[in-house]
Parts: sequence; C-alpha cells; structure tokens
Amino acid sequence: MTRIFEPFRIKSVEPIKFTTKTDREKYLKEAHNNVFLIRAKNVLIDLLTDSGTSAMSAQQWGAIMTGDESYAGAESFYHFEDAVKNIMGFKHVIPTHQGRAAEKIVGALFGGKGKTFVSNSFFDTTRGNIEYSGAEAVDFLTDEGKQPALIADFKGNMNNPALEKYIQERGAENIPMCVLTITNNSGGGQPVSMQNIRETSEVCKKYGILFFIDACRFAENAYFIKTREKGYENKSILEICREQFSYADGCTMSAKKDALVNIGGFICMNDDKLAMEAKNLLIIMEGFPTYGGLAGRDLEAMAQGLKEVLEEDYLEYRIGTMKYIGEKLTEAGVPILKPTGGHAVYLDAKAFMSHIPPHELPGIALTNALYVEGGIRGVEIGSLMFGKYDDKGDYVPATLELVRLAIPRRVYTQSHMDYMCDIIIDVYKKREQYKGYKITYEAPLLRHFTAHMESL
Ligand SMILES: *Cc1c(COP(=O)(O)O)cnc(C)c1O
Repeated sequence: MTRIFEPFRIKSVEPIKFTTKTDREKYLKEAHNNVFLIRAKNVLIDLLTDSGTSAMSAQQWGAIMTGDESYAGAESFYHFEDAVKNIMGFKHVIPTHQGRAAEKIVGALFGGKGKTFVSNSFFDTTRGNIEYSGAEAVDFLTDEGKQPALIADFKGNMNNPALEKYIQERGAENIPMCVLTITNNSGGGQPVSMQNIRETSEVCKKYGILFFIDACRFAENAYFIKTREKGYENKSILEICREQFSYADGCTMSAKKDALVNIGGFICMNDDKLAMEAKNLLIIMEGFPTYGGLAGRDLEAMAQGLKEVLEEDYLEYRIGTMKYIGEKLTEAGVPILKPTGGHAVYLDAKAFMSHIPPHELPGIALTNALYVEGGIRGVEIGSLMFGKYDDKGDYVPATLELVRLAIPRRVYTQSHMDYMCDIIIDVYKKREQYKGYKITYEAPLLRHFTAHMESL
C-alpha cells in the first residue's frame, strides 16, 4: 500500500476521547438517531464535513495576531482582497461570514418566484437559498456523474446539451443565473474539466445568463485538471485557478473549504452595478463591505490560507489521501463512488445496504452503523437530504444514496484513515444485520440537519 506523507509537522494537538460501543449506542439514541445531534466530543473520527474543520498553519495563527479590527477600511480587508484577486481576478470582492451568506445575497439579488437557476449540481444550502427566494433550482449533471461505479475523469461536468435544450424551452429571460459547482460536492467531490467550464460559459454567454462558479473547492478542482486534462500538466496550480475563473462573471465561496480557515466566505463579481447592490444587501445582512460579518483576523487567516492551498505538495497529499482510502476499500469489496473525489470518500449506500429500500433510508442505516461500531461520524447524502414529496404527497427518493466521509484538511493522519477503513470493512462484512429508519420529525427546508428518526 502506498504511504501517505503528510507534508507538515504537528505543533499543537487536540486529544481524542475514547468511547465504547455501549456509550455510542446511548449517544445515538439521545440524538434521535441523527448524527448531526451528537456532541462532537463523543465522536472519535469526525468526518461529518470538511467545512470549517481545517487545521490552520502556524503562519495563519501568526497572521491572526496581525488582524486589523477597524470597522471600515481595515488593512486586513486589503490583504484578503489582494489574495482573492490574485487567484480569481474578479473586480469586486465582498466578504461574508460563510458561503451560504454569499448565496443568500445571490438569492435575494437574482431570485424570486417564476425564476429558475441552473447548475451541474446545486449544493444543499445553495438550493435552499434559491428556493427560499421563491425561485426553483434545476441540475444538469453529466450522465457519467450519475453512475456511482463508473470510472471517468470529470464526473462533475455540466451536461451542456441538456442545459441548452432546457434554456430554449424555459426561456432564457426566466433564468437569471447558472452556477457551476467545482468540485461537485453533492455529486461526490468530482471535478469539472476546464473544457466543460469553458463550454458552460459559452452557453451562458449565448443566452445572456450570468455565469457564476461555486468556488468552494477551486484548488482541488485545479489539481484534478492538472493531473487529468490534456494540456494542463505543465501549468502551475495558480495558472489553472486563474483560467477557471476567467470564464465566469462571478463566484460564491465558502472559505471554510479551500481557504483553509474555520470561518469565512465571499462573493466576487465583475459588474459594478450588481456589486453595489450586493454590498447594500451585505450591509443589512452581514456588515460593512470591508469586513462582511467577519473579524479582521479572520480576513488575515483567509488571505494566508488562500496562498497555502495552492501548494502542490499539499494538494498531492490531499487528493492522495482520498485515493488511498478508495483503493483500500475497493480491495475489500466495499462499494464506493468511483473514482474518489477531492474532499471525501463516498460509500454507495444503495449497494452497501442493498437489503434496505430507499424509503427506509439505507444511507442513515450505514451512517449510524459507522458511528456505533467505530465512533466515526459521516453524513448521509441521499433520501434524507434530497428525498421529496410530489404534488400528491407521494415519496420521491433521491437518485443516489451515498454516505459521505468528508476528510478535514490537515487534521487526521494515515493511522486514523487506516482505523476508519477497518471499521467500514467490518460493517460491510456484517451489513445484513443493520435495519432501516423512518423519520419522526422533519423541518420544511434542509431537514437532514434536525430530523429525528426511529429504527425500524
Ligand atoms: C459548503 C458549501 C457551501 C456553503 O458554504 P458554508 O460556508 O457552509 O455556508 C456551498 N456550496 C458548496 C459546494 C459547499 O461545499
């Protein structure tokens, strides 16, 4: 097996509290069988999300001490703005406290009843903010991306022929924006090729639709382009990042991903008038445009993180970790989404728990089994997250039933990953003994965060 060489030394550590299987059964029951409701201290390996869970570098902690906390015109804002412009090249950079705050502003500016937003795959908060505005959100993921076992280089791509056909039927005037998510989080952390970014931008230009990038994992996407797309092997990550953004009119970003910080986000755009409107909304929702809901020190940490995320040693370790886990699980016969993506390994719960039908939430059964057996916290991305009721009130399951094991950046070592693989393989061997779940409480939007469930 490959050896992962973590390209850092550890200066500061956080202890992990050990728990027994009996403890964990109790904790899960108290949490209504929803791992979102478990106290983090009772988790051994927390793979709920890679969002805001990065370990910051000594340089970032150092930068935090230099934060300028002035209300307006803080020097930290200009450091942050320079770092973003260097990579993304947009004219206006507007900080927000996290990604969804940026999306809320986009929803408020462009959304509303009768409008449709289009995407390769909307992330849940993006979809939530669009739907909350009264608009609808429609995905056009390439067919390759819908087949969990299929190996292909760019399974996050937009299906541009389908998108164009839809635009013609729906009418471009009803479609204010197209959002390309790189890498595609909901679809398995799969990358989007440069060619596809270019083609999507051409479709949008042709019909006068704003083209935005959901940029959360722009550096991971760039690394895939460098290693998989012809013509990019000798370009630097920075050059590839710049080209990715050169095709877009703007972006929204959760800095909690590829800016290697624990909180932060931003919106970028080129249009002066739209940027002015966005800043006016920002003042009501987040704060003055030179801090946008963040402290000056957070802006400094983002500025530094945006430099570190471009380092190739880091990206090789990062993407290599997913590959390592993927190979180990595949060797043991565990069904996973292939190939492994940028920030997570996705277990194919439909195949893994094939004895549990979609309406009994196989992804929840698997998530809960991993917690009870090994204290591992993953997240279901399946029918609890995306299942719906149609007009007649009938249940419509999600297309894929996945369990995402999102790997925090620079936090866990190869030993932790080996332990995790052992637990997954063990659960797989005795998979028949696990049962499905039913929902006993659900909120109207983003129900997976707070749902209560009962074992069947
Ligand atoms: C995390 C994420 C968001 C939302 O960002 P938050 O900082 O969590 O609000 C949006 N889009 C994608 C693709 C994400 O992964």
